[in-house]
Amino acid sequence: RRLALKRPDLLRDGAYIGGRWLAPEGDLVAVSNPATGRTLGHVRRSGREDARAAVDAAAGAFPAWRKRTAKERAAILRRWFDLMTAHANDLARLLTAEQGKPLAEAKGEIAYAASFLEWFGEEAKRIYGETIPAHRADARILVTRQPVGVVAAITPWNFPTAMITRKVGAALAAGCTVVLKPSELTPLSALALAVLAEEAGVPAGVLNILCGDAPAIGDTWLADGRVRKLTFTGSTAVGKRLTAAAAGTMKRVSMELGGNAPFIVFDDADLDAAVEGALLAKFRNTGQTCVCANRLLVQDGIHDAFAERLATRTAALVVGDGLAGPSDQGPLINGGALAKVESHVEDALAQGAILMTGGRRVDRTGNFFAPTVLTGLTPAMKIATEETFGPVAALQRFTHEDEAMVLANQTAAGLAAYAYTRDLARFWRVSEALEYGMVGINTGSISTEVAPFGGFKESGLGREGSHHGIEEYLDLKYVCVGAI
Ligand code: ADP
Repeated sequence: RRLALKRPDLLRDGAYIGGRWLAPEGDLVAVSNPATGRTLGHVRRSGREDARAAVDAAAGAFPAWRKRTAKERAAILRRWFDLMTAHANDLARLLTAEQGKPLAEAKGEIAYAASFLEWFGEEAKRIYGETIPAHRADARILVTRQPVGVVAAITPWNFPTAMITRKVGAALAAGCTVVLKPSELTPLSALALAVLAEEAGVPAGVLNILCGDAPAIGDTWLADGRVRKLTFTGSTAVGKRLTAAAAGTMKRVSMELGGNAPFIVFDDADLDAAVEGALLAKFRNTGQTCVCANRLLVQDGIHDAFAERLATRTAALVVGDGLAGPSDQGPLINGGALAKVESHVEDALAQGAILMTGGRRVDRTGNFFAPTVLTGLTPAMKIATEETFGPVAALQRFTHEDEAMVLANQTAAGLAAYAYTRDLARFWRVSEALEYGMVGINTGSISTEVAPFGGFKESGLGREGSHHGIEEYLDLKYVCVGAI
């Protein structure tokens, strides 16, 4: 049964290279719906040859694309934004079908994804240079910003659309051309974007999208000196390997890697607001976001009331197939993800954690795990040190603010952290002490195209979104003019 779409042509199975669709042949990538286990379709499995052809196309398209005026590039990005908005329902249905998130969340992702095209189109017009008072009377110093060239982008399955536009919007706005490999688990959303990009007027070769043999494609791009930049979102382990490989041709890199977010609730917090924030920060996308709260650190005085209320609200979350009706929680992406969540819960319970709600698989087809709340988390448990990436809220009790800061920073990850407090001095102390690239105070929702997204420590390098995001795709050039 094919997915019903108003624009059935958004459902593609090829590789989009140099403005042409290469048909699937031979070995294919099977795409399945994690809520039902059913196969949605098969997509061309690209390897080294396609990867090289994509770089040929991107390198060929670069000189003309960079010469376009910023206004022309912005107009194309704006049209792409408008098309995404016009076809948001179809894009959201495709997204839910291959990724599993509830349809309302998928619509949210499409709007968020489109916002990067609008934002960076506008930023394209503000790629300013500067003049610097010179070191000699007869000299003048100019600084300009130029596009780095061909960009390779590798994206994950948890935000199949937004992780693409956050990179491609900035790259195209800067005047770069792109070769992109989405996750093999969610290629359909990526290919649908290519259809709309072409319709918006993105010229052939400026954006190329293929999926398949990830290491073969990645190696080909990393070894190719024409690719001047690698931008990656995914696991820390793969990010480190790719960063090391990028050194071979000294490519610039942006890495958005794993998190292990603490969510800290102080005694002086607004209890209701903290519970609502925790639900958002923990259970969005069924716990499968890199900024999801992984450890809930709760102060003594508020701990029990917070745990009770969070457990009650969590138990009421509706688990289901996002396309079948309203739901709050979708399935996990695959069997491996489900097994990991299960093992984290088992490990915590074996080490003395107390189960407040959930704690088991849901008895139905698909990769569903019941939304879970645990108390009694200790630093020895897997949940404390590894990214669970699932619907498990694990609470750890603390007494003093200093203790909370030590616990919060006890990880090599440094992406996002959250804290709830109504004390102004504490707000300053805590937001300065947290070793994280992003801090949410009295909010569980921090992602927006206008702010810089990225991590400290092993959570990555560089920033995406905001006016800082475009810098990742620009090289500074200093021109010294003498003999004046
Ligand atoms: P996740 O846990 O989110 O699946 P991964 O790091 O495995 O994280 O995947 C993120 C992206 O990296 C996906 O597009 C995946 O196909 C890609 N990827 C994984 N391994 C490699 C590799 N060796 N070379 C290039 N890309 C890779």
